[in-house]
Amino acid sequence: MVEIPSSDSLLRRNELLSQEIRRRVDQLSALNTVAASVSQSLDLQATLQTALQAVLRVILVDSAGISLVDEAASELVLRAQHGWHHDFVSQPMRVPLGRGMSGFVVANDEVLVTGDLTGDPRLAVPEFADEGVQAMALVPMHARGRVVGILSVMNHQPYEFADDEIRVLRAIADQVGVALDNARLYENTKEQSSRLEAILNSTGDAIIATDNHGHISLINATAEQLFDLRRAEIIGLPLRHAPLHPKLSAGLRRAMSAGESADTIFEVPLEDGRFLSAIVSPVYAHQEPESDRQAEGWVMVVQDVTHLRKAEQARVNFIRDAAHDLRNPLGVTLNALSLLSEELGASGSAAEIIDIGLQGLNRMQVLIDSLLNLEHIESGVGLQCKDLDVRDLIERCVADIRPSIIQRGQTLRVEVPDTLPLIQGDMHWMYRALINLLSNAHKYTPAGGAIAVCAYVQDDDLFVEVKDNGPGIPPEAQTRLFERFYRVPGPDQDIKGTGLGLAIVKTVVEQHGGRVFVQSKVGQGSIFGMALPLSSRREDRRARAS
Ligand code: ADP
Repeated sequence: MVEIPSSDSLLRRNELLSQEIRRRVDQLSALNTVAASVSQSLDLQATLQTALQAVLRVILVDSAGISLVDEAASELVLRAQHGWHHDFVSQPMRVPLGRGMSGFVVANDEVLVTGDLTGDPRLAVPEFADEGVQAMALVPMHARGRVVGILSVMNHQPYEFADDEIRVLRAIADQVGVALDNARLYENTKEQSSRLEAILNSTGDAIIATDNHGHISLINATAEQLFDLRRAEIIGLPLRHAPLHPKLSAGLRRAMSAGESADTIFEVPLEDGRFLSAIVSPVYAHQEPESDRQAEGWVMVVQDVTHLRKAEQARVNFIRDAAHDLRNPLGVTLNALSLLSEELGASGSAAEIIDIGLQGLNRMQVLIDSLLNLEHIESGVGLQCKDLDVRDLIERCVADIRPSIIQRGQTLRVEVPDTLPLIQGDMHWMYRALINLLSNAHKYTPAGGAIAVCAYVQDDDLFVEVKDNGPGIPPEAQTRLFERFYRVPGPDQDIKGTGLGLAIVKTVVEQHGGRVFVQSKVGQGSIFGMALPLSSRREDRRARAS
């Protein structure tokens, strides 16, 4: 026979059921509250408080607390409390790791529940006894698979913790663990970024960075001052709209479009007589293998090098004067020694000594001639600009350098389109410039290396570049390469040279209204190039057409 429950007992059962459902809903909502706080707030203290209040809403005990492991001090430190008689957070309660009940929880990664603490010898902190706690549950808190703290709930009366309450405590404890991890990461990142900002703002170099879409993402205090910009107005702006000096913007854009293989260095003479030196480098955020890397953005570092240029100018003037003064006596001495050598004939120790003297004097003459050449080009006197076919120029230089290249087992590739617009140039001087670049590539690239010369048109310029896979040049030396007498310190200094070749290239190219540039990476090679303007030629054509 089936017993039909009375309506009273049905009602009672329903009520119990709905109470249980409400309890579970409350538990879930407490968990959701903590989860939401963890994902929305990076304020650790606020999240700890939210967690404690949520706990006390669903577990009907008197108080709760959160202690965190301080690994450096080997202690467990109370960081948040709710419903306690005494303040144990302002002067935090500290329990040495390994001691008492909390020590057991941390060491064994286990929940510890006690229904009645009266006289329990495991209490590690005597002051805690004043709280008059009888029942307690301690739950380990995890982050990245390790115990990082304890969530504790306490009651002044004996209390039976239900299994589902312990499960909720565990879940909340782990949510707090995630919050801890987030907060720690956030604090670290904040600290690093403020340290970086302090460094960026205390450097005397102007720094501007862009993201990979070419939008300005950073500008430091020196850049604000140097370019008279306001950070708030320029951050996020596409680079082409930034009110930078047009030559700087153009250089930066050129470097960005040239690819990500190396740094680009260029110098900008300003209308007010100042000189800026800029280096543009790709920024890589991840440590990926070089072949897979993609630039996350670009950074341009600009230095005001006016004082260096002035000092260089003084040095140049001095050397020029000295070269002038030395030329005549040197010529006389050379002639005299040559005559003496003829007199003495080709053999004998005196003839040998004179020969050594003659070799030294000849080297000195090459040096002085180069210096005077430089002065000659700088003055612009005698520069005869006519229609110049760069294909012709390259052909002549390649024909002259190829025998030496073959002799060293190197290869020389020529990449020139079938037609190129003519430029206005002086073949004699342009030959000097290009042959210098080619002979440097030949000199500094080891035997068997690969050299290439190419020409192409981009925007209003005709580019001529000489590439090699030689030793490359460190960034700090790249800024000085075009200075007179500068030679990169290191083993290559044993290779014969005067340190004037690139200065001649720069002067010749600038006399043609162009600019020189270098891209180089140590161990990979170098690209030396010149950009020669086509605009005058175009204006010429336009004038003739009209
Ligand atoms: P020189 O070759 O007479 O020393 P340059 O002015 O032509 O003088 O070059 C200056 C310095 O630049 C050289 O001493 C060398 O250290 C470096 N250099 C020039 N071209 C290259 C290159 N293609 N590869 C590596 N280093 C180079």
